Amino acid sequence: MAAKLLLLFAICRLITIVGLTLNPTDLFRFGIHGQLTTDAHDLKTVSVDFGKLTRSEPLAVLHPSSASDVAKLLRLAYESAPGFSVSARGHGHSINGQAQTSNGVVVQMSGSGRSSTPVVVYEKLMYVDVWGGELWIDVLRSTLKYGLAPKSWTDYLYLSVGGTLSNAGISGQAFNHGPQISNVHELDVVTGRGDILTCSMDQNPELFHSVLGGLGQFGIITRARIALEPSPQMVRWIRVLYSNFSAFTHDQEYLISLHDQPQSQKFDYIEGFVIVDEGLINNWRSSFFSPNNPVKITSLGAGGNVLYCLEITKNYHDGANPEAINQEVEALLKKLNYIPASMFTTDLPYVDFLDRVHTAELKLRSKGMWEVPHPWLNLFVPKSRIDDFDKGVFKGILGNKTSGPILIYPMNKNKWDERSSVVTPNEDVFYLVALLRSALDNGEETLTLKHLSDENRKILNFCKESKIEVKQYLPHYTTQKEWMDHYGDKWSQISRRKLEFDPRHILATGQRIFEPSF
Ligand code: FAD
Repeated sequence: MAAKLLLLFAICRLITIVGLTLNPTDLFRFGIHGQLTTDAHDLKTVSVDFGKLTRSEPLAVLHPSSASDVAKLLRLAYESAPGFSVSARGHGHSINGQAQTSNGVVVQMSGSGRSSTPVVVYEKLMYVDVWGGELWIDVLRSTLKYGLAPKSWTDYLYLSVGGTLSNAGISGQAFNHGPQISNVHELDVVTGRGDILTCSMDQNPELFHSVLGGLGQFGIITRARIALEPSPQMVRWIRVLYSNFSAFTHDQEYLISLHDQPQSQKFDYIEGFVIVDEGLINNWRSSFFSPNNPVKITSLGAGGNVLYCLEITKNYHDGANPEAINQEVEALLKKLNYIPASMFTTDLPYVDFLDRVHTAELKLRSKGMWEVPHPWLNLFVPKSRIDDFDKGVFKGILGNKTSGPILIYPMNKNKWDERSSVVTPNEDVFYLVALLRSALDNGEETLTLKHLSDENRKILNFCKESKIEVKQYLPHYTTQKEWMDHYGDKWSQISRRKLEFDPRHILATGQRIFEPSF
């Protein structure tokens, strides 16, 4: 009874704030079993994200106990006048306030107090059903009990399933398996009308494709059915360096072209990064350039120029013949043109490889360097213009202090489903270029938030002026005109989808795509 009264109090406060005219005695009929709160700590937590660039406080936070709670809240937002916005928040690892809202409720899908919906592994059918707010690290831990694991990953596992599926979810496996959104069989989604619908390629396909890569615009994912494969136990993790950009991209493109080959004849993961700053060669994303044995760029003959590091892995199972693994790796490496003697290799458990960024996170946290502003810029660059991007950005706009890793790796467009809501460049192969910067306030001008943000703007302007048709990944725009340009030919489809699934523009207003219509 006490809990019910608290809930009643919270809803009354919310309703007072949003100015609805509901009779409080009607409120029990909403039957929300989770916790709806206006607690100051909760409000503060959801007002910021990993980017630390924007702050926006909602009216209340819902910790749902089930999909039905989410549906009841959305139905209330949809049916009431004037209405209020509802934004799902996974782990809050956006950069620009995408999961925030100032005139409504944040549904906190991950973390304590969230739904206790269990992870259910279907061993024989090779898939797993998970709550939308589940973190990928917990999905992995659950599936490993059955010797299984998802196929496609992000570099960092403390992200929610609903959050990454609303973007795409990419890492070095994407060339082979496609992004995470290409590895989902089925979803339960609560639409902006408050309906709970199951969707897949065959059932409510329009909703299924809308939500995948849909930036939270068309519904809140409450359950995802994710494809699994037998999990390898070990990984051979290899890094090789290049001073010649064309040789580097040629090799990356060659390696991803092997995606249809048998597993023994291709790598399992292909990424890369750019080193414009010698400090970075031993940085947090490159921890096995060992601190005990720091690499000197000069010792590699690059003469202070930009270096490129190809990062590849080969997975293997316990009991695999080591000689066979060596041979498979050597056969692939033989075809590459990296700087001789620049190879770094380590073998480690699969889980440790997948969870590698968390290890780095703990180190950065201990130095107070995790909770800082992150003016990240993620771009998809068409293969035909990646040389121009290199000349203009890596060798041009960026100075020799980048304040964070710069990832670069190509993907095959045919592994992306065109029916999803994501936009990618119109070429068979495109690159992710991710400038993962941390702004520091240590007196160095080139590391300040202002400097890094200006540099991001310069990069975008350079692409525009040079007619390099990049698409932002984890996009951030502030006007609808920019969103229309971003979506290009897809804009009319996105607008139609919005009208169908969220006609009052209640959902994920922090993306700033559609003006709320209340
Ligand atoms: P949030 O920031 O909480 O939400 C993001 C958006 O999704 C919001 O619009 C929100 O409303 C919506 N949303 C959240 N949950 C749901 C749901 N259940 N249903 C519908 N909409 C929902 N991305 C990659 O692809 N590959 C990487 O390797 C990668 N590495 C990263 C490493 C770090 C350290 C960080 C901070 C981010 C990384 N990202 C990467 C980006 C990440 O995928 C996105 O920021 C993602 O949105 C984060 O998930 P989240 O759960 O924190 O989402």
